[in-house]
Amino acid sequence: MGGRARVNQEGHALSGLEQKPSATPAPAEWAYAPAPESRDIVRLEDRYGLFIGGKWVEPSQTYTTISPATEEPLADVAQATPEEVAKAVAAARNAFENGWSSSAPSERSKYLFRIARILQERSREFAVLESLNGGKPIKESRDVDLPLAAAHFFYYAGWADKLEYAFPNRRPRPVGVAGQIIPWNFPLLMLAWKIAPALAAGNTVVLKPAETTPLTALLFCDVLRQAELPPGVVNIVTGDGSTGAALVTAEVDKVAFTGSTEVGKAIQRELAGTGKKLTLELGGKAANIVFDDAALDQSVEGIVNGIYFNQGHVCCAGSRLLVQESIYEPLVGKLKRRLETLRVGDPLDKNTDVGAINSRMQLEKIQELVEAGKQEGAEIYQPPCRLPEKGYWFAPTVFTNVAQSYRIAQEEIFGPVLSVLTFRTPEEAVEKANNTPYGLSAGVWTEKGSRILWMAERLRAGVVWANTFNRFDPTSPFGGYKESGFGREGGLHGLEPYLTFDGAESWGG
Ligand code: NDP
Repeated sequence: MGGRARVNQEGHALSGLEQKPSATPAPAEWAYAPAPESRDIVRLEDRYGLFIGGKWVEPSQTYTTISPATEEPLADVAQATPEEVAKAVAAARNAFENGWSSSAPSERSKYLFRIARILQERSREFAVLESLNGGKPIKESRDVDLPLAAAHFFYYAGWADKLEYAFPNRRPRPVGVAGQIIPWNFPLLMLAWKIAPALAAGNTVVLKPAETTPLTALLFCDVLRQAELPPGVVNIVTGDGSTGAALVTAEVDKVAFTGSTEVGKAIQRELAGTGKKLTLELGGKAANIVFDDAALDQSVEGIVNGIYFNQGHVCCAGSRLLVQESIYEPLVGKLKRRLETLRVGDPLDKNTDVGAINSRMQLEKIQELVEAGKQEGAEIYQPPCRLPEKGYWFAPTVFTNVAQSYRIAQEEIFGPVLSVLTFRTPEEAVEKANNTPYGLSAGVWTEKGSRILWMAERLRAGVVWANTFNRFDPTSPFGGYKESGFGREGGLHGLEPYLTFDGAESWGG
């Protein structure tokens, strides 16, 4: 370059490297280019029937399932009636009595291993469909839901032929037909949590997915066909709450339910005295507790993961942040700055951090509780973000100035809304953390191992995470205390509800 040497703002001559003209001018601000995952891998049917006895059965009624991000109709699916549920249960009974329960345990392992492998092979297809129908970011369905669903099948495949060793001298036997009802927040993963241990233990199942997210369960029927699972071992009936209620009262031997505490209590009342076994995995209002010696940046990541993962539609979400008073200001400052970097939008975009709210009903529930928080006197913070015009959306939200009595500190919001409270001593942290009707999970952030153990002993929560949050593993039992339900899923504990033993019963009815 000839001519006069260029100078910088301070008047110093620029080095050769600095003077080199760039082909593209430096952007004024850094923004992520859209990176949408292609939908082409998913082939949707216009209409789905009921999966009974290994066949698609034409339903008497249907409803339309949509994408919550765009409100676009995706497919018509069955709204199963009590008679159709009874048919599915009869198919499951037939399969239980005529082959499955008496099959060699190693045969059951074989089918479960096959299912696990097929899920891995088809994981991209499932991940796209999960995000399309449920609204969760593709990076979560791809990196969390799908790998964990396959891992559950692998894990329980390994136990199927080792039950005698898992429960020595107790003669474990399958229970019979399991009626399983799952929610919309982790549709395929909850299916895996339910079906894998039930089949490993020698039971057959009828599963009802949530009304708003039936599609991955319906695609799973194709996996069962591919795995050549004997007809009737797994039956899928879609529909709303009335289909779930019909399944509870049908001729099943065991009910496994994940969902709201309200419906869980109704099911427990319904089953009292029937002798049917029951496990309930219900709501939560977890405390995520940060001590003043914790690594602050790491805690901020854990707080964000704890409450904004899956739009906060997580029963074990860290929805109450308890911060030690001395670090309140720096921590909340860092948290607010981190929130500004969260990308809210298209669930199928690989850069999206926070996707769509699962349904209009859930959005209205979140809006109502957030309004209550403002009315009660809490201070709201939402980072600037443009929400799409169509679909169901809610900006990541933090409430400060929250009293323990506020509804936002007591009730499960099940959305991307965090309530911040403070404490001074470990004793106070424990008291506040346990001041909830729930008892599903908790998080502790501190440098001191002894304090982690001290806290874990005192927190009334089924899971306590230390310096991390929302970590799941098929080998690790998961479940709650108090109004969060009873029974455990995952690990050896997760097999027990699907078995009967000589002598004393263990869990549930
Ligand atoms: P529900 O408890 O109503 O739904 C869970 C499952 O139960 C769904 O498959 C549902 O069907 C079914 N169901 C509904 N009513 C009955 C009934 N009477 N008998 C048997 N099954 C029934 O939860 P919602 O989806 O309505 O969500 C409401 C609130 O529950 C959320 O805002 C959240 O706070 C909490 N929740 C907690 C979950 C958790 O994992 N802890 C999961 C989901 C929700 P359908 O989908 O048709 O309603």
